[in-house]
Amino acid sequence: MILITGGCGYIGSHINKQLHSAGFDTVVLDNLSTGHADAARWGRFVRGDLCDADMVAAVLKEWPIEAVLHFAAFSLVEESVRDPQKYYRNNIGGTLNLLEAMLAAGVYKMVFSSSGAVYGLPSETPIPETHATAPLNPYGYTKNIIERVLRDYQQAYGMNSVALRYFNAAGADNDGELCERHDPETHLIPSLLKGLKAGRAVTIYGEDYPTPDGTCVRDYIHVKDLAHAHVLALQKLLAGPCADAYNLSTGHGCSVRDVVGTVEEVTGQRLEVVAAERRAGDPPVLVGDPAKAKRELGWQTRYSLLEMIGDQWSAMGGLKG
Ligand code: UDP
Repeated sequence: MILITGGCGYIGSHINKQLHSAGFDTVVLDNLSTGHADAARWGRFVRGDLCDADMVAAVLKEWPIEAVLHFAAFSLVEESVRDPQKYYRNNIGGTLNLLEAMLAAGVYKMVFSSSGAVYGLPSETPIPETHATAPLNPYGYTKNIIERVLRDYQQAYGMNSVALRYFNAAGADNDGELCERHDPETHLIPSLLKGLKAGRAVTIYGEDYPTPDGTCVRDYIHVKDLAHAHVLALQKLLAGPCADAYNLSTGHGCSVRDVVGTVEEVTGQRLEVVAAERRAGDPPVLVGDPAKAKRELGWQTRYSLLEMIGDQWSAMGGLKG
């Protein structure tokens, strides 16, 4: 049985679904602070917060857990700059409770949701995993610190882990069962689509970055590609000892303007765009080199930006939904 923390969130719920198709049984642990209970459609569901160490220990004792997929975390860069305590307490404190409960229960395998935000300002693009880590914001630091904790825990306690450094997840499962729904929505693609549906202008945060069109460049990756990588990471963990990190990225950057253009192409609608100040903590360019995940996990992305936006748009019901 696999424990999925944060399995009611956007990425965790897609992965829960894909693990079930791959034949795994799961328990979802989620405090529903940002997730939705109706996303826990596969396996069992326990409502609880990782900051509650006794509850986490009880869950690990109750179920025959073989490995943990750890998604539960706060993940907004700008919010982490404004309220770092919230991020350090939950993302680091909660993860330490989880690891302690795993060690006590003899569970020695974790797939950890890390982030491309660990790199900070890249000195080369696409960024390889060997690049130095120097996060630009507290969110990135929480991921960087836990990666370090995991390496130390492997040395000291034999805790095996695979850290997956996500770049910008987007899209939705195409049978429309799941999609990205944050409240408030801050991510670019759903914000553009929501703005379009509501007939509202959308905002571009910063047009004076040192990039070809002045807007930030990111590496957008379909959540179905991310989900597939987790199945492969789990298989690697089940096969033997490791404490490794992989980029989950496409290697191709798209600017905010490129995304706006692709949304217009997919929906056939014009977007009204207004320029605003830069958002705190945003690096100008974040594009990851996926070669290591391809080489060592046998993982390859299958979906384009057009498909990510198309699937998200269908899951939202298009203009009418
Ligand atoms: N962004 C934007 N308008 C929005 C939301 C996001 O211009 O309404 C920009 C944001 O500043 C960043 C990029 O889009 O440069 C991706 O932001 P997102 O929040 O989707 O992901 P992040 O890279 O912060 O994880």
